[in-house]
Amino acid sequence: MMTNDSPNSWDARAAAHSFYGFTDLPTVAERGTIVVTHGEGPYIVDTEGRRYLDANSGLWNMVAGFDHPGMIAAAQAQYARFPGYHAFFGRMSDQTVMLSEKLAEVSPFDNAKVFYTNSGSEANDSMVKMLWFLWASEGQPQRRKILTRVNAYHGVTAVSASMTGKPYNAVFGLPLDGFVHLSCPHYWRFGQEGESEAQFTQRMADELEATIAREGADTIAGFFAEPVMGAGGVIPPSEGYFQAIAPILRRHGIPLISDEVITGFGRTGNTWGCETYDFVPDAIISSKNLTAGFFPMGAVILGEALADRMQRAAEKIEEFPHGFTASGHPVGCAIALKAIDVVMNEGLADNVRRLTPRFEAGMARLAQHPHIGEWRGKGFMGALEAVADKATKTPFAGHLSVSERIANACTDQGLICRPLGQSIVLCPPFILTEAQMDEMFTKLETALDKVFAEVA
Ligand SMILES: *Cc1c(COP(=O)(O)O)cnc(C)c1O
Repeated sequence: MMTNDSPNSWDARAAAHSFYGFTDLPTVAERGTIVVTHGEGPYIVDTEGRRYLDANSGLWNMVAGFDHPGMIAAAQAQYARFPGYHAFFGRMSDQTVMLSEKLAEVSPFDNAKVFYTNSGSEANDSMVKMLWFLWASEGQPQRRKILTRVNAYHGVTAVSASMTGKPYNAVFGLPLDGFVHLSCPHYWRFGQEGESEAQFTQRMADELEATIAREGADTIAGFFAEPVMGAGGVIPPSEGYFQAIAPILRRHGIPLISDEVITGFGRTGNTWGCETYDFVPDAIISSKNLTAGFFPMGAVILGEALADRMQRAAEKIEEFPHGFTASGHPVGCAIALKAIDVVMNEGLADNVRRLTPRFEAGMARLAQHPHIGEWRGKGFMGALEAVADKATKTPFAGHLSVSERIANACTDQGLICRPLGQSIVLCPPFILTEAQMDEMFTKLETALDKVFAEVA
């Protein structure tokens, strides 16, 4: 339907010389590529002039929408003033200094220190190298194992893909050795017959304790977790999960790293997901909405204790031999400063809090559908899980591609949402209005009705 057979079409030109990542190639072959030229608020517009409400904020990151004038002005001003620099050899831009101050101020830590990367994957990768560096410097070079969870998403570099708990990484021969995946704390899906949520959480904690005993605490470098799993399907932790695991990690001296690439800066209704779930990590990983998607950038925010230990380890050999050419890029830092201001002080985080009840009501209404097993989420992130049988939670047969068909039926109406496994993910920009939220739910409902009528 979308395909345009002309070899000069944008679709054909895209396919001719672009190698696609994280894209279902048969779907693209059938439906073509949407080539986007610009955006208007939470909408994107393609080369055919079609408008789509992007209920995924791009990839979770374009929280201020696609044409925020203040963000654009901040970027333009910094490009005019100082368009690029690094943070090596004792030099860095004034914007970098100011962003580090700001991140330390808004972090849950006293005296945080910040290290910059170009992406979330690199921030996780850098954090792992920091932990390896730190433990080796402190006389425990054998502390190298990294604990994460099944369904976690931490990125795509060889290390962060090893931390990611998704089966597709097997095609790369990953995970690397020493990356240990614990169970996914999704009570609805993995709770056992007759098991209460509290018992389930206790089972997760017992598994962590047993894993530490089996692997040996003195071989483990750190534990990474997203407060709400994002690309794993929007999975909030079971009740009391972080309260159950944090003391175990602390008792064994294992740093707890909160991967807040999605949950940072307002997505769950607070500045940080760890605030929403009431735990204090040892470090925070930030990216995506750090710059409201206006610049590729990631950050490792070290709490005071880890920052001090890292400082001592680096002083011992006179440097931390790691960094990216564009770490602390002045334009990225200026944009991040503006993004934080826009989200926290210009009403975007407030809008998330204000409209969360409407979001939850919309999700709850759609979850009454006989083929929606559950809705789950927090703040402005949510998922609806399709099931063939609601009582037994039996999924649809994979070949039916139910969630992909729902997403396609949304696209046909001018709504972008993401199929993830058998769920549909919604994570709209923070600027969404009531009317736009209603448009999102109305179109999604039409798509659900259409697809379930076909497959059920
Ligand atoms: C997207 C994401 C990453 C990876 O970030 P990239 O910028 O794509 O490398 C890491 N962690 C989480 C939780 C993410 O959602």
